[in-house]
Amino acid sequence: MRGALGGPRVLLRRLREVMAEQVSAQDRLDKIVVLIAANMVAEVCSVYVLRVDQTLELYATEGLNRDAVHQTVMSVEEGLVGHVAREAEPLALSDAQAHPEFSYRPETGEEVYNSFLGVPILRAGNTLGVLVVQNRARRTYTEEEIEALQTTAMVLAEMIASGELTALARPGAEPAVRRPLHLQGVALADGLGLGHVVLHEPRVKVTNVIADDVPRETHRLDAAIGKLRHSIDMLLEDDGLAKSGEHRDILEAYRMFAHDRGWMHKMREAVLSGLTAEGAVERVQSDTRARMMRASDPYLRERLHDLDDLANRLLRELTGRGRGGGLLEREALPENAILVARNMSPAALLDYDRTRIRALVLEEGGTTSHVAIVARALGIAAVGQVENVTGLADSGDPVIVDGQAGEVHLRPPGDVEEAYAEKVRFRARRQAQYAALRTRPSVTKDGVHINLHLNAGLLVDLPHIAETGAAGIGLFRTELQFMIASAFPRISEQLKLYRAVLDAAGERPVTFRTLDIGGDKVLPYMRAVEEENPALGWRAIRLGLDRPGLLRSQVRALLRAGAGRDLRLMFPMVAAVDEFDSARAIVERELTHLRKHGHGLPERVYVGAMVEVPSLLFQLDEILARADFLSVGSNDLVQFLFAADRANVRVADRFDPLSPPALRAFRMVAEAGARHGKPVTLCGELAARPLEAVALAALGYRALSVSPASIGPVKATLLELDVSAARKVLLPLLDDHSGTADIRRALRGFAEATGVPL
Ligand code: PEP
Ligand code: MG
Repeated sequence: MRGALGGPRVLLRRLREVMAEQVSAQDRLDKIVVLIAANMVAEVCSVYVLRVDQTLELYATEGLNRDAVHQTVMSVEEGLVGHVAREAEPLALSDAQAHPEFSYRPETGEEVYNSFLGVPILRAGNTLGVLVVQNRARRTYTEEEIEALQTTAMVLAEMIASGELTALARPGAEPAVRRPLHLQGVALADGLGLGHVVLHEPRVKVTNVIADDVPRETHRLDAAIGKLRHSIDMLLEDDGLAKSGEHRDILEAYRMFAHDRGWMHKMREAVLSGLTAEGAVERVQSDTRARMMRASDPYLRERLHDLDDLANRLLRELTGRGRGGGLLEREALPENAILVARNMSPAALLDYDRTRIRALVLEEGGTTSHVAIVARALGIAAVGQVENVTGLADSGDPVIVDGQAGEVHLRPPGDVEEAYAEKVRFRARRQAQYAALRTRPSVTKDGVHINLHLNAGLLVDLPHIAETGAAGIGLFRTELQFMIASAFPRISEQLKLYRAVLDAAGERPVTFRTLDIGGDKVLPYMRAVEEENPALGWRAIRLGLDRPGLLRSQVRALLRAGAGRDLRLMFPMVAAVDEFDSARAIVERELTHLRKHGHGLPERVYVGAMVEVPSLLFQLDEILARADFLSVGSNDLVQFLFAADRANVRVADRFDPLSPPALRAFRMVAEAGARHGKPVTLCGELAARPLEAVALAALGYRALSVSPASIGPVKATLLELDVSAARKVLLPLLDDHSGTADIRRALRGFAEATGVPL
């Protein structure tokens, strides 16, 4: 390195000595800037620390006016230092004052310095501060010097993160590293969770960053990379790929990156500058994360994620902390654990002790993702798409998760915590009120019985039947068992689950929906088909009829489980009546088969169809001539009616289902069912909302199926409802063709006027 005294390795070794000295934090910082300035032959070296209020404070300097320390404070929007903090990238200038963002601070006396090199002080991709060197002469800083300064910044990052500098700060102006954060994500599962962070895949803590013996560290890094490559190759060769829970295409991408020259080069360079192998991996990972947070291109972000994952694997390899480490963590799961993860499979979530998990926070995870469905089933509040939360949260941090608003409060200030504690108490009171309704029959004020059933899909749902006093299970999503498994569940496993469900329900009816996979409901062990429009693609009954083996074995398991009782099953996504005929024929064939082999049979088998494809609305008489019952899947029916993807947050709520087009469709189904004397249920999310439930009751629905948490609120509404009065409000509006009817408002007004709680 040009002009440096002793090079970066010597500097790092000296820094280590300073770090070990028993001196005050300020003295330590002062010594560090002197060392760096001397080593880099710079007239100035300064450390700026990012504060809770997002300003940068000068914490130490060699070369600038000492009186400015703890006095000079600037916004991150200001000056070259602000630029480095914002962009999280080094900035090297030979003529700093010519830069448009240069801002002059007279108290520091820095106008005489022409050259400027600033690097961000990063930890897990987050900016904690800025380290700057300046020279009077106009000079170009070399790549090696920039690299060396970045390496040095790592040592400072550890010092800041350890909390050592907090004592130097004025109250309210502490370093930002531990600041309270209000993070906005997307609501995945309702509920409030207060507790402490548990990182699903804990970051490997690198404590030893400065190398004693550089050739040895180079060797360690190379060996770890070799092992990483080998382990990815082994996984890809393994026939049981599915068992590892990883997708082939992800591994293919990993393999590519594990051979990426640029990535290897960066880590080797970092080792050569004096870091240990793990220190080097961490440094490069931190840069990757910083870029990840600023990348808007989804493809690039995805690739940066892959690199981040690979770096984690390398760190585990280098520190000897393997994947098994997570298990220890789980055993020591604190009470009130809030799980924080990049993403999580449903199976991994179910691995945790449910009684201790209060909430789940994910960097990824869409509303209809499988882990979200499982979180809802478990009654765990969940928020997804919270950017960089695994980088911002540390194990043990206090955190509040608001699964209704999609908000996360990390390290919340006292008043926020108190406000939420009050919310929790309020909710508990409401829950107690709903619990008191558990045994009350669901009958409206004018004597109309409206049965409230549960939507379920996992063993963990079964206790909800008794807890909620539901009339039965109106929708059992059988695909969930398949989605959380690592291989196709055998018939015996399916049989076991279905029997358990029927046993738990006792006398109450259960409606099993046959597999609704395909589209976005992918099974990790089934090769996914690339489709342009998966929601309109090869899914549900389409897949079941094209690959009848799967449907047949499921139907067999269902029929056997139902031996000696009534069995209700229905098919998803029926678009044409001949699909229903073919599926029903499979049921008949299986019945014949079981009879022939002397198996016990159900007393009666009711076969129904879901109405969730609009084409079925125009074949209602035909389908009702064949099916024993219908169940409206409003999630899909509404998405197809309005051509608005239910999983796309931009459009999912764009159209109000409490409007003539959707309500007329629902009415058609209810009226056709009544004409044919066949029961009609509605089992989409719509029925779970009290005002919507009022509309459905007014349209003639006498059975609704909702999530467990919604039974109480919907029942409380229905108990106070006069259905015939609601009909008088709703029906004229449905037949109003002005195009201006505001049904939501009218129904809300009706509810308020008649004392119906919403
Ligand atoms: C629906 O579409 O409304 C439905 C109940 O099925 P799912 O949400 O599982 O697609
Ligand atoms: Mg559906």
